Amino acid sequence: MGKRKALIAGNWKMHNTVIEGCHLAADISRLCSDLTDRDVMVFPPATILSEVCHIVKDGPIVVGCQNVCWEDRGAFTGEISPVMVKDAGGRAALAGHSERRQIFGETDALINKRLKGGLFFGLQMILCIGETLAEREDGRTFAILEEQLRKGLDGVSAADMAQVVIAYEPVWAIGTGKTASKEQAQEAHAFIRGILEQIFEKNIAEQTRIVYGGSVKPTNVDELMAQADIDGALVGGAALDAKSFGRIINFK
Ligand code: PEP
Repeated sequence: MGKRKALIAGNWKMHNTVIEGCHLAADISRLCSDLTDRDVMVFPPATILSEVCHIVKDGPIVVGCQNVCWEDRGAFTGEISPVMVKDAGGRAALAGHSERRQIFGETDALINKRLKGGLFFGLQMILCIGETLAEREDGRTFAILEEQLRKGLDGVSAADMAQVVIAYEPVWAIGTGKTASKEQAQEAHAFIRGILEQIFEKNIAEQTRIVYGGSVKPTNVDELMAQADIDGALVGGAALDAKSFGRIINFK
């Protein structure tokens, strides 16, 4: 089987006011107007989801939320439901970003609920997994990836996997300027694909997109994207600048 359709996703984190986000969305939208061979997603803060959706609505960009609750409504202060994401025009969400795990203490069990809730209400979901530096130095990278993957995907059906992307994001490479080498990233992605084959079956493992995240930049995207099991990128810092993000989208 050939490589899967590439996905370049921009995580804006807690950046951009309405005006800033609208300018960035318009700039990125212009860069993507005739893209057909790769998918592009952006994840703005929830406060500007609706505005960004409106700006990109005639183009190919899919807009998503950086986190999502599993319920459609109710007493969940501070949360955003998948139905609300869709109401604002969003079609996707992240689950398990390392900042949610590390700063806000989100567990694999909670992340699994978020993932399944998003899928239930029809969102495309990106499940983020990755080891810390201490875990890598202890030789536990693969054990951590397997645990996060198995627990994160618990109860997710093979059919649901068509709406799931896995993001391998080594915590030590996020926002640090340190990128995993192409060999380290490829090794982790191949391992993840192997676990997907164990959980589901070969076809599902072959079809699931596994994107890399961790200081992806215009200068390193081409060599990362040349790896057999790297199907795209989840980009933080470099996604805040239309020129950089545009170059990443147009990887060679
Ligand atoms: C991210 O936020 O998922 C990320 C990978 O950030 P950065 O590209 O800044 O490392």
